[in-house]
Amino acid sequence: MSIIRLYLLPGRAVCPEPVEEESKPKKTFETAACFALIKFAMDETEEFDDFRDRISTIASDGQRLWVYPKKPKGRLYNYRKIVSLVLLAIFFLIPFIKVQGDPLILLNILEREFIIFGMPFFPQDFYLFVLSMIAFIVFIVLFTVIFGRIFCGWLCPQTIFMEFIYRQIEYAIEGNNSKQRKLDSSPYDFNNIWRKSLKHFVFYLISLITVIWFLAYVIGMDRVIEISKDSPVEHLLGYFGIFVIAAIHYLVFAKLREQVCIIICPYGRLQGVLLDRNSIVVSYDYKRGEPRGKFNPLENRNDVGKGNCIDCGNCVQVCPTGIDIRNGTQLECINCTACIDACNSIMKRTHQPEGLIRYASERTIADNTPLKFNVRILFYSTVLTGLLLLIGYLFSQRTAIETTVLRMSGSMYQDYDETHFSNIYVLQVINKTRESLPVEVEVIKPNGEVKMMGDPLVLGKGEVGIANFLLVLDKDDVKTSQTNVTFRILANGKEVDQIKTSFVGPNRLDTK
Ligand code: SF4
Ligand code: SF4
Repeated sequence: MSIIRLYLLPGRAVCPEPVEEESKPKKTFETAACFALIKFAMDETEEFDDFRDRISTIASDGQRLWVYPKKPKGRLYNYRKIVSLVLLAIFFLIPFIKVQGDPLILLNILEREFIIFGMPFFPQDFYLFVLSMIAFIVFIVLFTVIFGRIFCGWLCPQTIFMEFIYRQIEYAIEGNNSKQRKLDSSPYDFNNIWRKSLKHFVFYLISLITVIWFLAYVIGMDRVIEISKDSPVEHLLGYFGIFVIAAIHYLVFAKLREQVCIIICPYGRLQGVLLDRNSIVVSYDYKRGEPRGKFNPLENRNDVGKGNCIDCGNCVQVCPTGIDIRNGTQLECINCTACIDACNSIMKRTHQPEGLIRYASERTIADNTPLKFNVRILFYSTVLTGLLLLIGYLFSQRTAIETTVLRMSGSMYQDYDETHFSNIYVLQVINKTRESLPVEVEVIKPNGEVKMMGDPLVLGKGEVGIANFLLVLDKDDVKTSQTNVTFRILANGKEVDQIKTSFVGPNRLDTK
């Protein structure tokens, strides 16, 4: 039994080495007995449960196992609290910040109006958005390869809202994890009903406020305030949408919770392919910790052959996804570090070195070697650097006004009068500024005259305008069938662009 236990010992993520076809054991009575013995050991031993075959929060009969995590305490938890408070403050303050009268960030998908850090973006800048998204995804992948799921534990809005808003409300109203468990299993008495009702009411209120804040990112805080002053009857559909989205938000944090990180989040699902033995993740040092055994202050653990883990279960009790990190890296782990803090406090109390659970790679723990800069990290870093440089270049080239001048397709030169030829051009201007702009065209080279066709071109903010104009040149200046011309584009009287194109004239051989 001890051999089997050693082989199945959790935390190693050990798979048997591939076995050559010829060397595979024949199905004999001995191997059958061995498999039966393994099955018996697994059935018998709760700790070697099928944790790699099913997620920790779903029972084998498919029932949800509700997680009641103990409130974490410790240095890392305090750091996380500071990071979360800063991020929440940023989230709630940004809609009030304005740059030259415009919101700092506006993501108006409905009206295709985007402002990022005070810089207006229009659908014409979509390529920048796509490239930024690709760079962001590559960044996340690279980051995950090196630092595991650290983003989930420290920066993800789901974790921040869950752990530092909703969970805190729950602790305040229902009490600690054991009181919550007791409350859930108690009958519906007055105590149960008022606590649950208050909790869910506050949960929904927070969801409503959050959704309204999200709306401020879409239509701007000024518009949200304006709408709030109007009669609700005027915006019935809008209010209905807000209440429905708030209800979904509420359900995510009141009911779904860790299931979002485990089952729904695509980033979480990718962990299996992104992590390798060099990735730094929250790890249990099984070399130091095993064999685990209860704490006895009168014994020397080394002398009695015990590892540092006193099997107190504190790391499991604080885990918001309900796993035992001693079973090794699991897809449920969001790297929240709660178990590190919990174990460190136990190590301190039992006068053992801290760091039995810590940020470390599997290789560091298994081989006691430092993190290696491998080919994968090099490749991702190179791609990321290339993308960032490209995006930086494109942003630097982005102009507030984009202009194009093309000769009207299919058009030839015209005899304007006895002494002049003319060509017809199409001017397209994209106004990416937040102001209205009158646009004019002048010809720089050769001497000539621009005659706008139709009304003067005036563009509102974010508008795309098209105008036709004639360029009239002296026949003496048109010496070949293609004469180079340069236009100057003026917006609000200021030059914004110079465009080189050609003027079509008669082939001189034909005219002779
Ligand atoms: S195992 Fe530790 S780091 Fe991972 S989710 Fe649980 S408490 Fe957080
Ligand atoms: S908190 Fe530390 S000592 Fe306690 S069970 Fe977890 S790993 Fe072992």
